[in-house]
Amino acid sequence: MNRLHFLTSFFCGGLRSRHAARGLSARIPFGAALLLSCCLLLTGCSDAASWSGLLQETEGTDGQIPEGSMQESISDQALPSFSETDGYLKVHFLDVGQGDSILIQAGGQAMLVDAGTNESGSIVTDYLRSLNITRLDYLIGTHPHEDHIGGLDDVIRSFDIGTVILPDAVHTTQTYEDVLDALLEKGLTATAPRPKDVYPLGDASFTILSPSEQTAEEASETGDLNNLSVGIRLVYGSNAFVLCGDAESDSEEAMVQSGLTLKADVLKVGHHGSSTSTCSAFLAAVDPDYAVISCGKDNSYGHPHQETLDRLNAAGVSVFRTDLQGTVVAVSDGTNITWSSAPETEGASEPSGARTQEVYILNPNTMKFHRTDCSSVAQMKEENRIRFEGARDEVIGMGYSPCGQCEP
Ligand SMILES: [Zn+2]
Ligand SMILES: [Zn+2]
Repeated sequence: MNRLHFLTSFFCGGLRSRHAARGLSARIPFGAALLLSCCLLLTGCSDAASWSGLLQETEGTDGQIPEGSMQESISDQALPSFSETDGYLKVHFLDVGQGDSILIQAGGQAMLVDAGTNESGSIVTDYLRSLNITRLDYLIGTHPHEDHIGGLDDVIRSFDIGTVILPDAVHTTQTYEDVLDALLEKGLTATAPRPKDVYPLGDASFTILSPSEQTAEEASETGDLNNLSVGIRLVYGSNAFVLCGDAESDSEEAMVQSGLTLKADVLKVGHHGSSTSTCSAFLAAVDPDYAVISCGKDNSYGHPHQETLDRLNAAGVSVFRTDLQGTVVAVSDGTNITWSSAPETEGASEPSGARTQEVYILNPNTMKFHRTDCSSVAQMKEENRIRFEGARDEVIGMGYSPCGQCEP
């Protein structure tokens, strides 16, 4: 295993827009952000904590997992209830601002890939609670940047956790320490990702795509933590999703060279749509119909970059964006994929912009949602009262129905 010695996690997106943290943090001017990023990029600490102490080798499970069975197709626009997971694969791209957090449900099991920033921990835990999730069968922290592992400690403390998959890295930030502490508290160990390993998730499965041993070695030399990103290909029936954290073109090219199957219906665009990811060879190998870009509105990195949007557009890919659309949910029945909203664009540069943000109170017990001033909210038990900020369609997409009294 290679060790990386790094001082900071802020490079790929520790700074976030107002929208990103849903009003929780102030925007930092670009100049200041750039200066801070540059300062924090200095390397060289040798007294670093490591996930490797918590890592354990896994048994290879190559090729043992049957792919999910074919299911009946969804006939119209309506999403199936999100309280039911049998017969569907559900992939939720959470709006955590400038960061990633992806919830996957299949056959009664659940997996979380990343948990956004430190500030978005409660957004993620509330979202999971709103779906009555109490256990995550898998938890993947793609790489040690704060916009991916920031909320992991909250998640680890809030849910029953099964297998934890983390790349081996040495990192000295408080965010990283918080994750280690939470794992230790829960008596959890982490599993190192190994390309070709296959894991079952309900009646779906996922294969580890990255990082390759060589990519991880090179990442340790160059210090590009993004190329340590754990990449997976999730399969359900004949549908597939590829999610590779912030993997950049070096790692993407290694995946293309590996001979692993990359073809997928949906690509979670690498590194928030940065031009350093989604290289042509990788895009051609994945050959997606849909792409999801997870980034913060008006983020200081300029994500997604126009070059990436142009590449996706040229490939005829329909693009969803969490910065413009909020949380986006894809539901696969094994043959067809249904989305919680229409694509933002076909890769064109003119975004639709505004979407209506409201505050609702969700009751995961009754699966009803209310206006904040609804009289029944006051009578709800504290644990059934979940505050949700977003669009009405999002709430309905999550399987909630409007209260008949306050008619939200
Ligand atoms: Zn990132
Ligand atoms: Zn990153």
